Amino acid sequence: MNYHQYHPVDVVNGEGTRCTLFVAGCEHHCKGCYNQSTWRVDSGHVYTQALEDRIIADLMDTRIKRRGLSLSGGDPLHPANLAVIERLVTRVKHQCPEKDIWLWTGYTLNQLSEAQRAITDQIDVLIDGKFEQSQYDPELLWRGSANQIIHRFDLSKS
Ligand code: SF4
Repeated sequence: MNYHQYHPVDVVNGEGTRCTLFVAGCEHHCKGCYNQSTWRVDSGHVYTQALEDRIIADLMDTRIKRRGLSLSGGDPLHPANLAVIERLVTRVKHQCPEKDIWLWTGYTLNQLSEAQRAITDQIDVLIDGKFEQSQYDPELLWRGSANQIIHRFDLSKS
């Protein structure tokens, strides 16, 4: 998997102070996409074990308390990203169970494959759907267009 940016302290992508990873790869090609440079899976930088270790360390950092991890892009649920993202979310839930995970994807919840659901079954908040320019609304929180839905999962019931 490749990624574009990692923000170890982020207050604009989800609730609270967070770590945010923007991955490479998106097959949705939405008209008006704000981040076309992330579409190619080989764009950006190679995601490494060292970066994953740093994300875990940042989430556990007690000097700057993070509420959780945000995964955006690009699309974290692009087929090329699934193995690495599943490993990351599984590790976060195992090593930092009190941290929440937010994930933005261009797929809708009911389109997800079994492999994608193996990831979304472990996250707390999913913001789904393509960006639709005709439904763009700058007043919306955490999403760009009104068709996108914020799903909050209760992991205690799974
Ligand atoms: S899903 Fe997001 S990153 Fe992908 S094309 Fe649409 S707006 Fe751009």
